[in-house]
Amino acid sequence: MATAAGIGIFDRVVARAVPLAPGLIVRRLGAPYVGGMTLDEALGRVDDLKRDRLATTLDLLGESIEGDKAAADAADAYLATLDALATRALPLNISLKPSGLGSGLSWDVATQHIDRVVAGAEELGGFVRIDMEDSSTVDATLDLYRDLRSRGRKRVGIVLQSRLWRTIDDVLALAKLRPNVRLCKGIYLERPQIAMQDRDAIRASFSMLLRVLLKNGSYVAIATHDEQLIVDALATIQELGIGGDGYEFQSLLGVRSDLARLLARNHTVRIYVPYGSDSFAYSQRRLRENPQIAGYVARDTLRRVGRSVHLFK
Ligand code: FAD
Repeated sequence: MATAAGIGIFDRVVARAVPLAPGLIVRRLGAPYVGGMTLDEALGRVDDLKRDRLATTLDLLGESIEGDKAAADAADAYLATLDALATRALPLNISLKPSGLGSGLSWDVATQHIDRVVAGAEELGGFVRIDMEDSSTVDATLDLYRDLRSRGRKRVGIVLQSRLWRTIDDVLALAKLRPNVRLCKGIYLERPQIAMQDRDAIRASFSMLLRVLLKNGSYVAIATHDEQLIVDALATIQELGIGGDGYEFQSLLGVRSDLARLLARNHTVRIYVPYGSDSFAYSQRRLRENPQIAGYVARDTLRRVGRSVHLFK
């Protein structure tokens, strides 16, 4: 039975079971969300999107760094990515997660590596977005951002999550810096004391935060595929008279590409393109959000059953 939102009960049950699914299945079903296993594959994807007038931000997958060497290697890989983008005249924009740069080891380590990447991006005229992870990391991530800004780094931005009760306070506390903000709902599952659980409340919070940020003069990357929020955002942009240099829309690779292409006719739209072999955690999160996940799983299972029947013939 489908609900008003078009999401069946079976889909919801399957979505909840995603964390229990084996790695192989998660990776296979998550493939449409990933730009490639290698940098070369991801660059090809970025090039294709550029031809469709879509901007991009590249994210190197990998959230469970073990040891400082792995964190340093990730920073080096990001610098190599920036060089490759510059060489091919592709959008010099990357997104990174503090955990991928060693925050699990120590935030000082992560800060050093991220500063190195931001400095490298600045030299090339590029931009670095620091993704936001679960609520336990928000204070440290925002401190890291303040630290970078206090050292004069400008071509760096943060992510704020509308589902967190604290976010309006963070917006007000950061106002003087006029941060470049990606605004999203937030993907991490959080307790009711920390995050809103009601879908409409999360939406209302998103629209309210967008308005406050734009009024404050922040550049906002509006990161949602939610049609209601996009319509609200368009109305707010119009009402406040915000020009094209004050905002952009952002979308995840593999999600509502029809909508992204439509918006790109009149607005800057940037596609988040993750790449690399460590796609498990990212794919898991995307599959959990996929309203048609049950259909996906059913089709994939039937395909595999069909293949094994064929083998036995
Ligand atoms: P939803 O209500 O989840 O989705 C609206 C519609 O979009 C759905 O009805 C469906 O049609 C479609 N859709 C959404 N997800 C999928 C999917 N996986 N597969 C198929 N269809 C789908 N979260 C963070 O916590 N930290 C970050 O740093 C972060 N960075 C992001 C960067 C970008 C560019 C984007 C677009 C999102 C990012 N997110 C991040 C994720 C975000 O918080 C949401 O979890 C995600 O965008 C889904 O929310 P939504 O606003 O699209 O609304």
